[in-house]
Amino acid sequence: MNNIESVKCLIIGSGPAGYTAAIYAARASMKPVLYKGMQPGGQLTTTNEVENFPGYPDGITGPEMMLQLEAQAKRFDTDVRDGFIDKVDFSTLPHKVWTEDGTEIHADTVIISTGASAKYLGIESEQYYLKNGGGVSACAVCDGFFYRGQDVVIVGAGDSACEEAGYLANICNSVTMLVRRDEFRASKIMRNRVLNNPKIKVLFNTEIDDVFGDGNVVTGVRVVNNKTNDKEEISCTGVFIAIGHKPNTDIFKDYLELDETGYIKNIPGTAKTSVEGVFVGGDAADHVYRQAITAAGTGCMAALDAERYLAAKEG
Ligand code: NDP
Repeated sequence: MNNIESVKCLIIGSGPAGYTAAIYAARASMKPVLYKGMQPGGQLTTTNEVENFPGYPDGITGPEMMLQLEAQAKRFDTDVRDGFIDKVDFSTLPHKVWTEDGTEIHADTVIISTGASAKYLGIESEQYYLKNGGGVSACAVCDGFFYRGQDVVIVGAGDSACEEAGYLANICNSVTMLVRRDEFRASKIMRNRVLNNPKIKVLFNTEIDDVFGDGNVVTGVRVVNNKTNDKEEISCTGVFIAIGHKPNTDIFKDYLELDETGYIKNIPGTAKTSVEGVFVGGDAADHVYRQAITAAGTGCMAALDAERYLAAKEG
């Protein structure tokens, strides 16, 4: 029995959901311990400017906002730790989790805020402009505004890609949508909205071969028709990748009810999962809204539900 620690509230993940849960749990004297996880700060750390989070009239960068949320959580004595949880056992109470260095933690309540990761094409030039420059994004609602009046390309053919193409068409000069097969995956209504929008041009059987630019910002993409092998260049300043997200829920799959794509199922209207004492906030349970503000909101719900659960148990 070495290295076992007992906590009232363990929070896994450090995006807006995790830190908001921490602020609420700490203020309710639950002494939360928060593990930052593999990507401290979550998806927002890959976003430059956040202009749609209420309370920041001049905008704020994603990394800066996450530092502020961390500072706010620490102000109320959240124990914020580097490291990640790589194994759980939710079959008995208290719940057991293990950190990557082998520490075993017994938790009365667990709040999961591990988020989701956007999928990318994985080509080198895409990753270069995603990480070093400007012009590649996986979130039209977050970043579309920066491309207003400009020409953009969007990759994907699901409901998200269609929705985001419509969003971009309202802001941008032109939207070229690249669909890798000769048909959409999206529902008929979403597909028709795209096809009937004069500002969106759809290229079927078309994939990105290269993203190019001046080293700082994107100036275009080279695409290839996968039927004819014909290549062409399209001038654009923004490349939106909308090929789906993967929720970071693999370690929970043996214990919690997940939907067919791996998102944690919460009891509607609550942050409760299928297991007593385990709660979820943020994108790990949300494939629809996926915004920092909605993650913060459901992180708050998770802490309040955890607090009420403990209060009911303690009588
Ligand atoms: P999906 O998994 O539904 O679609 C992903 C799309 O990306 C597919 O068209 C797929 O192509 C394409 N794709 C995947 N990999 C690549 C690649 N390497 N290169 C090019 N294209 C690629 O993800 P979504 O995010 O669109 O949707 C997720 C879930 O959320 C769905 O259930 C959806 O219905 C739901 N949703 C609903 C909305 C609504 O109802 N308003 C809005 C947004 C999402 P292919 O088809 O060839 O596999």
